[in-house]
Amino acid sequence: MIVGIDLGTTHSAIGVVDSGFPILLADEEGKRIMPSVVWFGMDGAVEVGRKALRRQATDARRVVLSVKRWMGADTILENIGKTPDEVSAEILKELKRIAEWRIGAEVTKAVITVPAYFNDAQRAATKRAGELAGLEVARILNEPTAAALAYGLDKLKNKARVAVYDLGGGTFDLTILEMEDGVFQVLATHGDTRLGGDDVDAMICSWLSAGLEIPGYQRWRFLEEAEKAKRALSDLSEFTLRIPFYDGKNSLEKTITRLDLDAMTKGWIARSLKCCQQAMHDSGLSLNELDAVVLVGGSTRMPAVREAVAEFFQCEVDVTQHPDEAIALGATIQAGVMSGAMRKMVLLDVTPLSLGIETFGGLMNVLISRNTTIPCKAGEMFTNAADSQEKMAIRVLQGEREMARDNWELGKFEVMMEKLPKGHARVGVQFRIDADGILEVLARDTKTGKDTVINIASSAVNVDDAAVEEMVSASVEHAFEDMSERIFTEAKLKADELLPAVEMIMAQGLVEEHERGEIEAAVKEVKATMASGAANALKVAVQRLDSATEAAAARLVEKAMEEALERELGL
Ligand code: ADP
Ligand code: MG
Repeated sequence: MIVGIDLGTTHSAIGVVDSGFPILLADEEGKRIMPSVVWFGMDGAVEVGRKALRRQATDARRVVLSVKRWMGADTILENIGKTPDEVSAEILKELKRIAEWRIGAEVTKAVITVPAYFNDAQRAATKRAGELAGLEVARILNEPTAAALAYGLDKLKNKARVAVYDLGGGTFDLTILEMEDGVFQVLATHGDTRLGGDDVDAMICSWLSAGLEIPGYQRWRFLEEAEKAKRALSDLSEFTLRIPFYDGKNSLEKTITRLDLDAMTKGWIARSLKCCQQAMHDSGLSLNELDAVVLVGGSTRMPAVREAVAEFFQCEVDVTQHPDEAIALGATIQAGVMSGAMRKMVLLDVTPLSLGIETFGGLMNVLISRNTTIPCKAGEMFTNAADSQEKMAIRVLQGEREMARDNWELGKFEVMMEKLPKGHARVGVQFRIDADGILEVLARDTKTGKDTVINIASSAVNVDDAAVEEMVSASVEHAFEDMSERIFTEAKLKADELLPAVEMIMAQGLVEEHERGEIEAAVKEVKATMASGAANALKVAVQRLDSATEAAAARLVEKAMEEALERELGL
């Protein structure tokens, strides 16, 4: 098992593939997104996430925010005495703990995301943070790539181009990716490491506190209320902020509308669009060469941001995923692909129709029946229909009908075999369907050990639904005629074998007088029913002839054994 982690500047999340589906794991409060905040107590205690954020009001000096900005730098953080990777490790440890608590098993491997512009030192520091947290980092993944995976854009055509607009809490990135043989390459990336939702909180905060004397230690409450208002205005058209007794005696109540916020953030959004322009210019692409534009980062929940991005790119932006969960989800998908957990979905494929080969008399011999879960394999032995046959034709068939001619032919080949009397050759035929739906047919002459193999592309599994339905209903419609034709064919094959044998027994004088009448009557009946084409009557007649000659056949075997023994003894 490998987990996927978005180690964000302001927020982080962790996920895992469960029963083939990527899911993010919620903490004890039911929250799937955790603030990337760590508090280090004087006594060595450590708190992470929402708990650490609450310490901001009383012990701000020992709270570390946005440590991601310091990743890769060779510094010791003031007041705390820790390196950035040590602080990040605390965030990862907490995510690991939540995952282990949810899953009920130890977590040791992770895919962790980083911004596309992170250099080697920053990537190495992130990897080190993972190791400090007890996680083997299976891959460092670019955030825009993870976002594209979450939006399912890896299913786009080769050379598809995607723009990922990521506006988070403290940073903005615009990345243009190009799909190259199933992997995303970064064509261009441009951003602003000081542009994010925190700026909006600050703007609302100064609007709220304009003209007021606010004691420093109260500032945190204002910021908190500002963020609350901002989030609310993504869904509502107005919101009333309330801060009771902000200075010990006075309370504050002020209503803000969506329009107020739009006016306030106009310039802020324009700054992000400038980066978009720069990235587009760097990539050398024009807007109509983009195949998709996706929004990532919590701040893209703001309606004004969505509208501005759609207008800039002159297209509809994909907002089908939660923007603040997309990166963690993409990391989880990547983790699932690497561990094999995502592939389980493919394994649930079944064969839509039966697969087999044609045998004597033009019959369909099913080797893998309809609705078998793939991958699967099955085999059977076949023999030669004629004396000294040099080769056996193998026709690979698909369908539900009893006669080969009514099914579809998927392939055809010949197996060379040693010349032997009829019924003595042994040819094994094996069908194997792998997880990708490729059918491999192997035929082996067990006398010579020689193999003949053909591969049939996914047509064994990928069949048009309408065609499957047609085949199945035809088999139901013709069930009666099909079955009697099979019975007749099988009985006729038996009769063709039996009639010359009976003639031979009679010629050798192995039939006793009291048996002769019944045998002759049975032979006559077999010939008559064979000519009439009546399936069940022929089957009964063949059974009658078989039992009428049973004793004589036993005598033939006895005589043959005696002769063999005499030969051996040289008599
Ligand atoms: P990161 O910066 O770590 O990538 P996120 O992508 O989670 O973090 O973005 C966090 C930012 O998104 C914060 O500024 C937060 O206030 C903002 N945000 C979250 N939800 C909303 C919302 N509903 N409306 C507006 N902003 C939001
Ligand atoms: Mg982010």
